Amino acid sequence: MQFELEPHHRDLTNEQLLDELRRVAVFLKRSTVTIDQFNEHAKFHSTTLARRFGSWFKALEAAGLEKSRNLHLTNEQLFENLVTVWLKLGRQPKYQDLTKNTSSFSAGTYEKRFATWRRALEAFVAWANEGASPEMASKSVIQSQNHRTPRNINWRLRALVLMRDGARCQLCGVEARNGATLHVDHIRPWSEGGETVCENLQILCHVCNIGKSNLFPSKT
Ligand SMILES: [Zn+2]
Repeated sequence: MQFELEPHHRDLTNEQLLDELRRVAVFLKRSTVTIDQFNEHAKFHSTTLARRFGSWFKALEAAGLEKSRNLHLTNEQLFENLVTVWLKLGRQPKYQDLTKNTSSFSAGTYEKRFATWRRALEAFVAWANEGASPEMASKSVIQSQNHRTPRNINWRLRALVLMRDGARCQLCGVEARNGATLHVDHIRPWSEGGETVCENLQILCHVCNIGKSNLFPSKT
């Protein structure tokens, strides 16, 4: 997503740009301003500031404001949120999909971390793919004698299964966009020796998942 400068913004001095940033902070009664807050309340787009000062954080610094809280988010948290959004939407999320209703973090937060939305998605896929490696499985602490993998399905595996199956129940075909609640499920129950690996995982809707529990009362 590209935002171009309006021609007259080129004429603004650094101090005028920072004044606008401080004005938004005062208006919000905050010691810091997030990119989203700025874009909502300011006279020009955050990109103008970020370009002039090198980054959003450098602009905050130059304005004498605190850096915004999202700085402390880990990549892991950002990726886990993407899994949730992906499940809700039933498809790969687009920049404009990250609204308050679907996502805990804004698209601006991802851009800030990964430079572009595209790169954020690439990093997400790379992160998920690491979940398929045997190294990841052996790193897990919770292993039992009969299993080489833990019972818990981690976020990376959830992401991988989601990307493979789509947000669609593999038994009845219902999709997330039709309002179905979807789960990642062990095909062969873990309690019966099934492993927590991609090949033994599938997307199921809530109804089919319960139905399966009735067939296999001891399943995970
Ligand atoms: Zn189903």
